Amino acid sequence: MRAVLFDGTEIKLVEKAIRKIRTNEVLLKVSICGICGTDIKILAGKSHASPPVILGHEFCGVVEECGNNVQTLAKGDFVSVDPNIFCGHCQYCRKGKVNLCENLIALGVDIDGGFAEYCIVPEKQCYKIPKTLAPVMAALMEPLSCVIYGFQHADIQPGDSVAIVGGGVIGIMMLKLARLSAARQIIVVEPDAKRRELCRAIGADAVFNPNDKNADEEIIKFTRGGAEVVIECVGSVAAVDQAYRLVKNGGKLIIFGVSSVDQKWAISPYDIFRKDITIRGSFLNPFTFKTAVDLVASGKINFDDLSIRAFPLNVIQEAFKNQIQQKSLKTVIDLSL
Ligand SMILES: [Zn+2]
Ligand SMILES: [Zn+2]
Repeated sequence: MRAVLFDGTEIKLVEKAIRKIRTNEVLLKVSICGICGTDIKILAGKSHASPPVILGHEFCGVVEECGNNVQTLAKGDFVSVDPNIFCGHCQYCRKGKVNLCENLIALGVDIDGGFAEYCIVPEKQCYKIPKTLAPVMAALMEPLSCVIYGFQHADIQPGDSVAIVGGGVIGIMMLKLARLSAARQIIVVEPDAKRRELCRAIGADAVFNPNDKNADEEIIKFTRGGAEVVIECVGSVAAVDQAYRLVKNGGKLIIFGVSSVDQKWAISPYDIFRKDITIRGSFLNPFTFKTAVDLVASGKINFDDLSIRAFPLNVIQEAFKNQIQQKSLKTVIDLSL
C-alpha cells in the first residue's frame, strides 16, 4: 500500500506491506485523514513521535477485515478512530485518568496511522459512524472529542460570558459547543478578518481583533468586567496572556492551545490568589469520543461551514504546506482522490 512515512526528519511517500492483523484488530481502508497542528509540530521536531512511523491520527475508514476475536464490527462498517490507546493498568488508568496513562501510545504518532491506504486499528479504538455521514465529518471526530474534554472543564453556567481566544478550527468547535449552552454571550478573539467574519456567522455575539490596541479594554467593557470562562485555543504565550487578562474575578481560564514545550509564561501568583481565578489545562480526549460521535450523528454539531481542503495522498507535501500556511481552515487527505 501507499503510505506517508515519517523517518525522524521528513515525510516520504513509500510503498509498505500490510502486516497480518491480530485477533483483536481490524484492517481499515482509510477514507479521510486530517492534518493536525500536531503533525506539523512533529515534522518541525517540536512534538514527540516514534519514527519510523506512518503519521495521521484524525481519520476514518471502512472495515476491510476483522481479527478472529472482533465482536462489534463487521466488514463494510464505517468507523472513526480514537487514536489514543491507554494501557488500562497503570496508576492513572486505574483511577480513570486514561489521558495521563504512563504507557499511552497513539496511532499516527507512535504506531502507524492514517496517512496511508490502509491502517490496522484495535477494535476498541473504533467508533461506528452512520454511513450517511460525510467522511470528512467522521475525520473531525478526534479533534472534536478533545475539544469536548476541554469544554467539560469550562463548565459553562447559565448566564456566563464566554471568551474564546483563537478562531481556528478548534476555536470554532468550542464556539459551536458554547452555542448549545446557556451562556449569556460568546465572544471570539481572532486576528484574521475572514475567520472573525465566519465566527460571527456561526453565532459569536461579538468578535475582536487581538491586534487592536484597545482590544482588551473593549472586551472587558463588552463582558462587564471580563468573561467568567475564557478558553485559549491558540498555543502561544501571547494568546495565553491575553486570555488570562480577560478572565473575570472568580472566573476560569482553560489552556487548550498547545504551546511549544520551551515557552514560559510570567504570571503574578498574587493576582490568581486575589482574583480567585482557576486555571486548568486539557489534554487529549478521555471518554469523550462517543459524545463527539453522538453530537455529529444527531446533527447538533456540523462542520458544513468550515473551509476544508482535500488533497490526494501523493501530494502530501503540498497538503502540509497548505495547512502550515493556513490557506484553508482545515486540510485533509482524501484517499478516494
Ligand atoms: Zn490532532
Ligand atoms: Zn495506563
